[in-house]
Amino acid sequence: MSVKSKAAVIVDKGKVEVRTIDIPAPKRGEVLVRQKAAALCTLEQRFFTGVFPTYPGVWGHEVSGIVEAIGPDTYTPLKVGDHVARGCGSACDQCYFCAIGQDAKCEVERMRLKAQQKSDREDGIMGIFGLSQYAAVDPRNLVPISRDVPFELAALSEPVACAVASASKLDIELGQTVVVIGAGAMGMANILVAKSLGAFVVVSELDAARRQKALDAGAHAVLDPNSGDIAQQLQAINDGRLADVVIVTIGVEPANEQAVRLVAPNGKIMLFASAHPAVPMSVDPNWVHRSGIVITGSTSKNRKDLYQASLLIARGIINVQPMVEKVIPLDQAQLAFEEAIKPESYRIVVSM
Ligand SMILES: [Zn+2]
Ligand SMILES: [Zn+2]
Repeated sequence: MSVKSKAAVIVDKGKVEVRTIDIPAPKRGEVLVRQKAAALCTLEQRFFTGVFPTYPGVWGHEVSGIVEAIGPDTYTPLKVGDHVARGCGSACDQCYFCAIGQDAKCEVERMRLKAQQKSDREDGIMGIFGLSQYAAVDPRNLVPISRDVPFELAALSEPVACAVASASKLDIELGQTVVVIGAGAMGMANILVAKSLGAFVVVSELDAARRQKALDAGAHAVLDPNSGDIAQQLQAINDGRLADVVIVTIGVEPANEQAVRLVAPNGKIMLFASAHPAVPMSVDPNWVHRSGIVITGSTSKNRKDLYQASLLIARGIINVQPMVEKVIPLDQAQLAFEEAIKPESYRIVVSM
């Protein structure tokens, strides 16, 4: 038994086709989700632009939908009809990292993700089938979300969860000064989460329209790197001090250099964005030794972070609307991808 499902299949570099594909009924340990929205993150864009040239594939890991059916002998707190947000990976619950609550680093899941870059389907399509009306999903990959949240916003639970994971690693405290470098979609997620944790949120961004958008979204102040010394700009609005935390959300060398200039003694630098190309950072070891600063990174999220992100959104603690550029229907998936790869775009959400 299977269901017919419309899906956005990336068939080649720069080419997406909307096809009707078969989605197998959920097996033991799976639930069938009627997926309603999927946002296009950098992972999906990298298949489209040919950075990951493996085709054909149906991706999409920032997803929301409704539980349609539960597989045989599957024990889950989810019920048919529940609205859910989906992340990209699940976890084995058995390895060291899962045991200590760091399931984002699950060793088994890493192997499973690799296996997804091959297909055991007759049509040869690989992927995680987020950009598809239906998918059979491991329920450990899902969290419930209130029916009151529009699907287009519920789909952003996953990117918000990545900011939650980063914030909890940084242990952001009330009243701390958090500088977010870059006010793109992921900059926005970090702004919203840091603000919800009671931080004084300052955003450094080159683009005037984005600076205004950051203020509208709740940032307390903005800095323009082109308007003179960035550290002095921060000190002028921060009682002469630098930042307790700097979150770098764009993977470029000048952003990393800014972070080094903006961090206070004993402060923390979070390398949140991946860098392509990855230009090495030069850091004076004596500066690290004497200042006591911490340089760290974060990618993906634990299950706990996904749950917390869905609650932040569902309970109106944060408003993720500013992360969304446009909602585009699945039938126009080609257009959706073309819009998503524009550097100025916030999240493009595909509605299904
Ligand atoms: Zn993502
Ligand atoms: Zn594991």
